[in-house]
Amino acid sequence: MSTFTSVNGPSIIEAGLPPTDDIQARTASEIFGSRTLSWLNISQQLDGEQATAFREYVQGRKALDKDTANQVGEIVKNWALRHGATHYAHWFFPLTGTPAEKHDALLSIRSTADGEIVPMEALPGSRLIQGEPDASSFPSGGLRATHTARGYTIWDPQTPLIIREEGGARTLIVTCAYVSYKGHALDLKTPLLRALSALDREGTRFVNLVRGTDGARTLKAVLGCEQEYFLVDDHHVAGRPDLIQANRTLLGLLPAKQQQLEDQYFGPIPARIQAYMADVEEELYRLGVPVKTRHNEVAPSQYEIAPIHEEVSVACDHNALMMDVLKRTALRHGLVCLLHEKPFAGINGSGKHNNWSMCTQDGLNLLDPGSNEDDHFLFAASLSAVLLALHQHAGVLRVTVASSGNDHRLGANEAPPPIISAYLGEAIHELAEALEKGEGLSLRAGQIQAITDRLSVTLDATDRNRTAPFAFTGNKFEFRAVGSTQNPAWPMTILNAAVADAMAQLSGRLEQKLASGGDRKSAVLELVREVLAETKQVRFEGNGYAPEWVEEAARRGLPIYQDTPAALGVLLSHEATGFLTRLGVLSEEELHSRYEIFAERYLKDLDIEAATLGRIATTQIVPALERQVGLTGEAVAHLSRASHERLARKLELLGDLTEKLLAGAEALEEARGTLFAGEVGAGLLSAREQVKPALTTLREACDASEATVSAELWPLPTYLDMLFPV
Ligand code: ADP
Ligand code: MG
Repeated sequence: MSTFTSVNGPSIIEAGLPPTDDIQARTASEIFGSRTLSWLNISQQLDGEQATAFREYVQGRKALDKDTANQVGEIVKNWALRHGATHYAHWFFPLTGTPAEKHDALLSIRSTADGEIVPMEALPGSRLIQGEPDASSFPSGGLRATHTARGYTIWDPQTPLIIREEGGARTLIVTCAYVSYKGHALDLKTPLLRALSALDREGTRFVNLVRGTDGARTLKAVLGCEQEYFLVDDHHVAGRPDLIQANRTLLGLLPAKQQQLEDQYFGPIPARIQAYMADVEEELYRLGVPVKTRHNEVAPSQYEIAPIHEEVSVACDHNALMMDVLKRTALRHGLVCLLHEKPFAGINGSGKHNNWSMCTQDGLNLLDPGSNEDDHFLFAASLSAVLLALHQHAGVLRVTVASSGNDHRLGANEAPPPIISAYLGEAIHELAEALEKGEGLSLRAGQIQAITDRLSVTLDATDRNRTAPFAFTGNKFEFRAVGSTQNPAWPMTILNAAVADAMAQLSGRLEQKLASGGDRKSAVLELVREVLAETKQVRFEGNGYAPEWVEEAARRGLPIYQDTPAALGVLLSHEATGFLTRLGVLSEEELHSRYEIFAERYLKDLDIEAATLGRIATTQIVPALERQVGLTGEAVAHLSRASHERLARKLELLGDLTEKLLAGAEALEEARGTLFAGEVGAGLLSAREQVKPALTTLREACDASEATVSAELWPLPTYLDMLFPV
C-alpha cells in the first residue's frame, strides 16, 4: 500500500522508435515507496469521523482520541505484518548526531480468565504514537539529571513509516521527536519542527503583505541535500584503527598522483561502485527516498548522491536514512562508506550542500525570480528577507556547521571559509545594485546564447560560485558549508528560524509603510532598497577561497570564527540567540544544553583521535621503525661507514624518528590529559592550543617514517591502497 503509483503506463515502445532491449527489471517508479506507509495512506483506511480526527491530529490541531489512535495502530500493525515485520522501533535523533532506535516486538501476550496464555500481534495506538525509552545515557547538557531519566519519543507522522530490512529481519521504523519529561527538546527534530512552524506563520504573513492578497495559506521550506562520501575496501579499513575509531585517517602519506589531474570528477563510475550505487538506490526507492543524481566527486574514491528536494523535515529524515543505507549497503559490497568531512588529509573532503527554498501551498517558489513583474516583486522581497537573515544571524548559522570534522574542511581548498556570506550571481547582483540606486525591477535570465551554428544554450540568471558558503543558484540558495556527516536538521533549524525572524521584522516595517499611505509596490520597493543597503556587508561576489577575503570580511565586521572552539560561544550569547527564544524555537536552557553537548562532543572527538594516534605510533609505527633499524643496522655493519655515508645517515635518521615518535606520543598523551581537566571552556582552549598541535607533530613524524620505512614493513594500509583500488 503506498500513495505512489507508476505513471509510465504500458506503452514505452511506440511506433517509430527503435526496438527496446529485453528488460525485465521493474522501473524505479514501480518500486518507489513499496515499503512506506504515509499518514495519508492511513487516513484513507479510516472511516469518516476517524479520518477527520486523524487529519486534525497530524496537522497539530487536536490530540488523538483513544479509539482513533488504536484504529491507526491496527492499520499500521496489519500493514507491517503483511510486509514481514516482527518488530517496531521508534527512530529518533538525539544530540549525539547518531540516530537512535529501540526495537520492540509486535508480539503481545493475553491471558484468558482460565489462565490460558494467548500470543498475538498488537500495536496499541499509544505505543505507536509515544514511547518512553530510558533516556539516561543520552546527552542532555544539563536538561535533566541522570537519576530523572524520563524522555519521550513522539511519532512525527509527516515522515512516512517504513519497513527496514537488515540481516533478514524486518522492522517497522517510526520516525520520532524526542523530548524530556519537562518538554525540553533533547533532539534535532523538535527545534526543527518549531522553526518550520515559525517560518510557516511569519512567511505566510509576509507573502500576503507583499502581494496584498490572502492567497498564501502556508509557507513550506524545501531541501535537497547533495551527499558526498568515500568508499574504501573493508579489508583496508580493518587494518586502520584510526578509521575504525576516529572515522578519519590520523596519519598517511599521499601518493604521487592525488587529484591533480582532475580526472575523477564526473569520471566513469567503476563497475563495482556502480553495482553498489544501484543497490543503494533500489533500497532508497523502496523506502520512498527520491534519489536522483549520482556521480564521481573530485577526490579519488569519492562520490555523491542527491535526491529530489522535499519538505525540509522529511528531507532531513530521508538524509539520515540515506546515510544509514549508504553505510549498511557498503558492507554487503565489501566496502566501507566514510561519511567524515575529511577522511584523508591533503585531498578534498566531503560536504553536504543544502539546497533550500520556500514555497506556498500552490508551489509558488519565493526564490524564483519569475517571469513577470509581480513575481519579481515577491522574489526581491523574499531575497531581502534571506539577506537580512544571513546578515543578522551569521554567527548562529556558523555554529550549525561547527564540528571537529568540519574544522578540517572549512577554509581548506575545497570548501567555503568559516565566514557566512551570500553570493547572488551577476544578474541578481546587478538587480540588487540597480534597486539600491533607486532603479526599477528588471531581470535578464533566460537569455539564449549560440554556441555553434547548431547548438545554443539558455543561460541561467546566475553563474555558479563554488567558493561561497551561501550561494544563490537560480531559484534556491545552496548552504555549502554543511558537513557530510551532519544531520541537516540543525543548520536547517537555524536557517529557517533566521528567515522567519527576518520576515517578521520586514512585515512589521512594511505594515508601517503601508499605514502611512502610498501604494504597496512603492512601499515594497522602498523596503527592498533599505534592506539591500543594510545587508550589503554580507554580500560577496568574489573568490571565497582567497586569503584576502578573510581580511576583507574582518574589515566588513562579519563574524569570523575560525574553528569550533571559537564558534560554540555564540550559543551562549543572548544577543545572537534572542530570536530563537522569541520565536519559540529553542529556550535558553535548550541553547545552553546544546553548547555543553556540542563542546563535549568536540573534546571527546579530539580525545579519541589523540588516544588512537598515540597508540598507533607506539604499538605499530615504533616497532616498524625498530625492525627497520635492525635491518639498516645490519647493512651498515656489513659495510664501512665511511664509504656508505648515506646508509649510515639513514640509520641515524631512523633513530631520530623513533625518538621523535616516542616523544611525540608522550607529549600528545600529556596534552590529552588537559581536555577534561577543568571547565568545558578551558578544555576547548587546550584542544586548540595543545592537542591539535601535538596531533600534527606526531602525525608529521609518522608520515616521515612512512617515507623511510620499507613498504614491506609498514604496518598499515596506505593512502595508495585505500584511495586507488585496482
Ligand atoms: P547541482 O548541479 O549543484 O548538483 P542540482 O540542480 O543537481 O544542483 O540540485 C541539487 C539539489 O537541489 C537536488 O536535491 C535538487 O532536488 C535540489 N533543488 C533543485 N531545485 C530546488 C529548489 N527550488 N529548492 C530546493 N532544492 C532544490
Ligand atoms: Mg549543487
